[in-house]
Amino acid sequence: MWTRGPAAEYKQPARTYRIVSVSMPASHFCLNCGIPLQTQTREGREVEGCKRCGFVLWHDPKVVTVVVVENDSGELVLGRRGIDPGYGRWCLPGGFVNDDEDPAEAAARECWEEVRAQVDITRLLNVYHVAKEDAPSLIAIAYSARLREGEIPQAGEEMLEVAAFGTDVLPELAFPSHFQALRDYLTAREETQQR
Ligand SMILES: [Zn+2]
Repeated sequence: MWTRGPAAEYKQPARTYRIVSVSMPASHFCLNCGIPLQTQTREGREVEGCKRCGFVLWHDPKVVTVVVVENDSGELVLGRRGIDPGYGRWCLPGGFVNDDEDPAEAAARECWEEVRAQVDITRLLNVYHVAKEDAPSLIAIAYSARLREGEIPQAGEEMLEVAAFGTDVLPELAFPSHFQALRDYLTAREETQQR
């Protein structure tokens, strides 16, 4: 558990920078031709590409949403994860954005799937880059949202339980990007209250 004074008192997770090796095993095949890809340099980066058709295997990030959901009392709705990564730990609702979705729609959909509640997205909080070494890195888009009237959150398939927490008794969260989203939400909320 962490307790809360002003949002600025939150300890920010240490930010580390690292050099990523660009040597990649040439173990992929062209999606068009089926022949092995070869290492090429494109726009100053080493990538795998196809000599025959020009296909390039760009390493793009995946897009995810993270949603800080408020109820009528100003409490925040969190879920405790029933799947890995982060099994048993608390998190904000959120997940991958599908190709045909607006990110805000994806955020509302994830709230429905994970905490079984209809929400209205209220604002964009921030955008974060989540660097990963063993998988594509993530672009996390954080929103705040409000429960629609009469909605009572319940655990979706991937959650063990859901609960609403006052902002002074928030549990530790499973992922750094969720922590950042919560911190940015609390900062924005304090700024609004001070006006
Ligand atoms: Zn090809």
